This record gives sequence, structure tokens and C-alpha cells, in this order.
Amino acid sequence: MKHHQGRIEVICGSMFSGKSEELIRRIRRAEIAKQTVQVFKPSLDDRYGIASVNSHDGREADAVAIEESSDILNNINGDTTVVAIDEAQFFDNHLVEICRQLADEHNLRVIVAGLDMDFRGEPFGPIPALMAQAEQVDKLHAICVVCGNEAARSQRLINGKPANYNDPIILIGATESYEARCRNCHKVPGRPADK
Ligand code: ADP
Ligand code: ZN
Repeated sequence: MKHHQGRIEVICGSMFSGKSEELIRRIRRAEIAKQTVQVFKPSLDDRYGIASVNSHDGREADAVAIEESSDILNNINGDTTVVAIDEAQFFDNHLVEICRQLADEHNLRVIVAGLDMDFRGEPFGPIPALMAQAEQVDKLHAICVVCGNEAARSQRLINGKPANYNDPIILIGATESYEARCRNCHKVPGRPADK
């Protein structure tokens, strides 16, 4: 069944906040409602094509891995009514315009999941602009692994210690990991005074 009006929904929050879980839940419910759903995610590791959305608790949904946001438009099937996009923070800013076109011109329901902040606590890619455009924004929270309060931030750790503000995105030979943390427990050594 086609929608009469498009809409944009954003599911955002820190790592481990349940974004993928919630996206998978909305995909399943749309399928139960006999909607035709297409799921996309960025192909960060050069493997295009068949992929899946995976939550930390093991749930998954089939997805198509694409290189850039404009590939979404090129891959939309005529009978699709719902477009779901996971890990959307890794797409270029053109994603904002693509989602607008899908909602405005194609009358599709667009569900976007992604991190709203990077490990520094700064706005991440196209997500903040998508939040502004969306009809519905859900900001989910994880649990801070240090103090047990609600966590809105993602702590980057290099060899077990908080990553520096200026540490490169790729660190060869280092063990990198992420934790969910609250504002108080989130540490970014080397953050410039004006940030
Ligand atoms: P996201 O897509 O936001 O990274 P997922 O949907 O993949 O999150 O995973 C959420 C699940 O991760 C939770 O339901 C829970 O089982 C698990 N989890 C692991 N660590 C945490 C944490 N610190 N806070 C909350 N949930 C956590
Ligand atoms: Zn905390």
C-alpha cells in the first residue's frame, strides 16, 4: 500500500543505545503492515551489495551496502514504500537532500538511524541536519558503563585509555574500542578550549 504523504523519522543516540534494534523493529512492523521495505547502509569496507543491519543483541535485517548516498535513488524499486538507512552518520551530507526527495517527491516513509555525536561529542555527519528536517526524532540512550546513569555519548578508547581529541581515525597497531558513557564520565583529552 502506497503512502499518501512521505515522512522522515530519525533514530539517533550513542553507541549501544538500541538504534539498530529500533530500526529492525520498525522494519519488521512495516513488513507486517504489507509495506515494501528497502534497507541501505554504507559500505565502509568496499564490500558492496548484500549486507545486513545487526544489533548488538544479535537481531538482524537484510540490507544493501552502497558507496554513497546518491546510490539510494539509483536503487529504489517502483513498489517500495519504506526506505530504512542504518549507520547514516557515515554518509556524505548529500543524504539530507536525498531523504528530502524520497519523502517529498516519492512520498516514501524514510527511517534513518545513526549516531548524532562522534567520539568527541560533536555533531556527526548528516544526522543533525536530518533531525531538523524530520517529522519524528527519537533520541535513544544507553547505560553509562562507568556510573550506570543514562549515556548519550560514545567514549573512544585506544589501548584502554580515552582517545585524544586529535587522534587519527585509523590507528595502526593500536587496540581501539568504544563504550557508552554519560556526560560526566565521557573524556576527550586534548579538546581545544573553544570546542
Ligand atoms: P546501537 O545500534 O545504538 O549501537 P544496538 O541496537 O546494536 O545499539 O544494541 C543495543 C543493545 O546493546 C542493548 O539492547 C543491549 O542488549 C546491548 N548493550 C551493550 N552494552 C550496553 C550499554 N552500555 N547500554 C545499553 N545497552 C547495551
Ligand atoms: Zn557516567
